[in-house]
Amino acid sequence: MGETFKKAGVVGWPIEQSKSPIIHGHWLEQNGISGSYEKIAIEPANFEKDIQSLIADGYRGCNVTIPHKEAALAMADVVSDRAKAIGASNTLVFKDDKIHADNTDGVGFISNLKQLAPKWDAKLGPALVLGAGGAARAIIYSLLQEGAPSVVIANRTQAKAQTLADFFGDHVTAITMDDVGNVLADTQTLVNTTSLGMVGQPDLVLDISALPKTALVTDIVYNPLETDLLKQAKSLGLMTVDGIGMLLHQAVPGFEAWFGTRPTVDDVLREKVLSA
Ligand code: NAP
Repeated sequence: MGETFKKAGVVGWPIEQSKSPIIHGHWLEQNGISGSYEKIAIEPANFEKDIQSLIADGYRGCNVTIPHKEAALAMADVVSDRAKAIGASNTLVFKDDKIHADNTDGVGFISNLKQLAPKWDAKLGPALVLGAGGAARAIIYSLLQEGAPSVVIANRTQAKAQTLADFFGDHVTAITMDDVGNVLADTQTLVNTTSLGMVGQPDLVLDISALPKTALVTDIVYNPLETDLLKQAKSLGLMTVDGIGMLLHQAVPGFEAWFGTRPTVDDVLREKVLSA
């Protein structure tokens, strides 16, 4: 008997911009799996109905992107601890007549750092996270899970940073962007999660020369791949990690759940996604 054809996809509105089909298509081919992964446009008003249709059509699950991440969490029967804490889901698995919701952004962020900066360890010291949006929430959660002793959040809208700090509790504090200079000397992990520095967005203007020589600097913006923040960090001799790997690693748990094989993030995939 032949192998069952396995179907998955990514749902969003709009969905044309998604790079996920390149990632999953590469892994399907690399692993010789009989399956498909496609872009599926779902209008917000139809989210629940269209997800039920995917289940009826035999899909094994889907990635979820803007604007459906909260709706995905709300309709799930089983929610992972990390999705619950992050308050949004980017990965749904349909199995045993249930919808399972996960959030893999944080684990993707950490796996990327571990792969590209093996000497880095969250436990080495305080982290400073710039930004307080959806990505920041996932990253703060995962930094704490990895044992970061404390996390400082700086955001343009300080009230949003404070809300996140209150949510995560004791080891997390909020500061204004103007105060960033005062905490750099104590920072071992600096993460930009704002959209500053991205093509079409304003620059991130920040002098990071006060960071310790042992600090790691990472930017989750990946267009351009080497942001001005990373250039500055490199010129100071600091460890740096760019953001494309987070996108690749966050896709691993979904692929494994839907297609039954744990895929690897390698340079071929990286180049394929960057050149697409
Ligand atoms: P979001 O929820 O919309 O948050 C955006 C953040 O950027 C907020 O903290 C916002 O500050 C800040 N910001 C935006 N414009 C700003 C400006 N002009 N000046 C100062 N701060 C500004 O978005 P998100 O989902 O967290 O994503 C943030 C960035 O990460 C995006 O560039 C996204 O493409 C990237 N990202 C990358 C990956 C990856 O896999 N590498 C994954 C997810 C996201 P306010 O709160 O003050 O508005």
